[in-house]
Amino acid sequence: MAPLKVTIVGSGNWGSAIARIVGATTKQNPGEFDSTVKMWVFEEMIDGRKLSEIINETHENVKYLPGKILPDNVVAVPDLLESCQDANVLIFVVPHQFVGRICSTLKGNLKADGVQAISLIKGVSVRKEGGLKLISEEIEEALGLDCSVLMGANLAPEVAADNFCEATIGCKQRKDQGPILKKLFHTPHFRINVVEDAHTVELCGALKNIVACAAGFSDGLGYGDNTKAAIIRLGLMEMTKFVEHYYPGSNLETFFESCGVADLITTCYGGRNRKVCEAFVKAGGKPLAEIEKELLNGQSAQGPLTAEEVYLMMEKQGGLHDKFPLFTAVHKICSGKVEPTGLIDCLRNHPEHM
Ligand code: NAD
Ligand code: 13P
Repeated sequence: MAPLKVTIVGSGNWGSAIARIVGATTKQNPGEFDSTVKMWVFEEMIDGRKLSEIINETHENVKYLPGKILPDNVVAVPDLLESCQDANVLIFVVPHQFVGRICSTLKGNLKADGVQAISLIKGVSVRKEGGLKLISEEIEEALGLDCSVLMGANLAPEVAADNFCEATIGCKQRKDQGPILKKLFHTPHFRINVVEDAHTVELCGALKNIVACAAGFSDGLGYGDNTKAAIIRLGLMEMTKFVEHYYPGSNLETFFESCGVADLITTCYGGRNRKVCEAFVKAGGKPLAEIEKELLNGQSAQGPLTAEEVYLMMEKQGGLHDKFPLFTAVHKICSGKVEPTGLIDCLRNHPEHM
């Protein structure tokens, strides 16, 4: 079989960190992978120069992962179709609000067969009638291919610094596709477990961002580690209930993989969602979007949007808000309907205490 061509669809903070890993693993496994890895760059100008050109000349994504060198086999491509049309493995890693547009551009323009995808995107989508659509399902439905997921306790700057960490691949075709995906991401610093329970893996990655917002509110209000631990515990209970509601009979053990408790902890302490939500409380009334712009330099915190999407789903299903008060409170606080102090009332009256 010809070596597989790999394309990274996205080049933000995580996309660039993962390019360092995939650039290295593809070089190390020439029998399995073509050594050139294309990375789609959403083009923008930096000091009068195109970001894609800067990346190809300096091997550094100066905006989204400054100070870290990308392997020289990673090639930045600003044209989405050109980056993807001959790929066998598509790694999707963009903020989730952009997936729909990207998929509609790619639809009908990929190789006819022998293509699979893996999503590193933490978020959800809402179906027209209000049901849950996973981002992997959005990709599968639009492009007619299998989409696995990779989630874990993986703050991009730490991964790019080669700090030890773990990640979970959720792969419905574990026996067929698991080994090659593991080969693509597994390194001495980035250890991969592959499980079949892909929807739980993906929902853990999406929902923990909502809990991290609550952790940020708590920090902004001046509460300490005990309160944060309560938020993490109650958030985890809501995550398990949410997965059980949409996918009855899911595997509880998946929550003990890196995608579950571990990612929840790391994001509640070190993530961008936490940071932005802490600043939101301290700024007293400034819109969250403005704070995100000021603090993240073009990067994106997905928790507030995910909280809104989950809120809409629960509204359509009727009566679910009472079962998920922490998720609900995060949306109401982010959207200015409830004061941040309302979070503590929500925790105090949580059904887990009744
Ligand atoms: P990011 O937060 O750095 O987002 C910025 C990216 O979005 C840039 O590449 C920018 O060019 C692109 N962009 C802006 N407007 C766009 C548009 N209209 N269309 C397409 N792209 C556009 O991105 P990231 O950190 O790589 O995150 C991508 C996904 O990975 C998210 O779901 C995130 O939750 C997840 N993730 C992030 C981290 C992390 O530590 N950064 C870790 C694990 C998972
Ligand atoms: P933030 O988007 O909150 O930084 O979280 C990154 C992440 O998903 C770490 O695993």
